[in-house]
Amino acid sequence: METSEYDVAILGAGPAGAACALALHGHGLRVVLVDKATFPRDKVCGDAIPGLALKALRQLNPAWHAELLAGLTPRADTRDSRVVAPNGRELRIRWQLPTFNSPRLHFDDHLLGLVRRHTTTKIREDYAVRDIQTTPTGVQLLPAHKEQEPLTARLLIACDGANSVAARRLTQRTIDKAYHCAAVRAYYSGIAEVDGTTTEFFFLHEYMAGYCWIFPVGNGVYNVGFGMLSEAVARQRVDLKKMLPQLLATHPELAQRFAGAQQLSEVEGFGLPLGGRPRPLAGERFLLCGDAASLIDPLQGHGIDTAMQSGILAARQAVRSCQQNDFSPAFLADYEHQVARQITSKLARSYRLMRLVAPRPWLMNVGFAVARQPLLKRWLLRVAG
Ligand SMILES: Cc1cc2nc3c(=O)[nH]c(=O)nc-3n(C[C@H](O)[C@H](O)[C@H](O)COP(=O)(O)OP(=O)(O)OC[C@H]3O[C@@H](n4cnc5c(N)ncnc54)[C@H](O)[C@@H]3O)c2cc1C
Repeated sequence: METSEYDVAILGAGPAGAACALALHGHGLRVVLVDKATFPRDKVCGDAIPGLALKALRQLNPAWHAELLAGLTPRADTRDSRVVAPNGRELRIRWQLPTFNSPRLHFDDHLLGLVRRHTTTKIREDYAVRDIQTTPTGVQLLPAHKEQEPLTARLLIACDGANSVAARRLTQRTIDKAYHCAAVRAYYSGIAEVDGTTTEFFFLHEYMAGYCWIFPVGNGVYNVGFGMLSEAVARQRVDLKKMLPQLLATHPELAQRFAGAQQLSEVEGFGLPLGGRPRPLAGERFLLCGDAASLIDPLQGHGIDTAMQSGILAARQAVRSCQQNDFSPAFLADYEHQVARQITSKLARSYRLMRLVAPRPWLMNVGFAVARQPLLKRWLLRVAG
């Protein structure tokens, strides 16, 4: 059996892995990017692409950013949000950074398209990694399919998402329900009182550690979902897959808006590993990025931006490590410091705010009333982006 040799193996071709491969371009490294799926592949998500994700791509290369935007359909350009408090009162927000929503089926495929067209990365789809072994000279990815050959590299950058095999094997990560969300979503059309450009959030008195969303994704289709802190899901014994259609049929506002709507897909669920507390993100010959590193914003539930930002930081660390031939935990710890400084500190603030508000619907109602004041609204926008 032949063994491949690479400088860097990126495990997972979602936003973290694709951004990492793009950031490694031009450094003369032998890079392989593997994924168990064949793209285009779906990913259960709200499909809201945060402005900071697009900013990260633009900073990497403005031409790639322009190419992504020019080719990506369907999508809904969104700048406005409508946020409904537990008491039914609403707040309208215009975000500072331009952004859009696009089904992950298409967004992730377009991002990977940039890697295909602009880098020399070897892309291996349909390559599921079963296990990882670290040796003194490299790291070996062992495939689930016996007929495929193992891959070896000097450094592993693990971008394999919320159920990361790398995080489990290399850092013994387990699910901490206080830092984990469960969420479900389905696609709908024919919803009443929608404008195709506004994202909507509903906070509910009875399920406070989470929210329901309606996000336009283009062509009259809407991503509708509900996410909640796993600790609260367990405590309140909520079956999210059953709860979403029930909510849409009974909520005073949503019931009349969904009366004539068509459900276009099954209700599907997935986990969100939340950021906000220090975790091991690096060790002997490996770095973790994105959901594998638990970098989702605890307040708003977005993680595509932090996935791409961490993928780019990991690429910079990989270049330094390969140049100096140093893959020791001590040298790779600089990546952890960069992530802590640029990403985790902000997520820790979000986590504290989420924990403060979640058990106190009255506080959120008061907060909404206060946030209508123009000065406070501007401050809120600066904090939330
Ligand atoms: C219901 C829901 C709604 C969300 N809504 C939003 C939102 O609106 N906006 C937002 O910014 N974020 C949202 N998120 C979070 C967002 O989906 C993640 O933060 C983001 O996808 C992280 O990107 P990633 O590249 O780290 O991982 P992923 O996008 O999960 O990519 C991981 C890749 O690794 C591959 N992989 C996994 N295991 C293996 C293996 N063993 N071998 C080979 N390949 C493997 C997978 O096939 C996949 O392609 C939501 C999450 C959920 C669950």
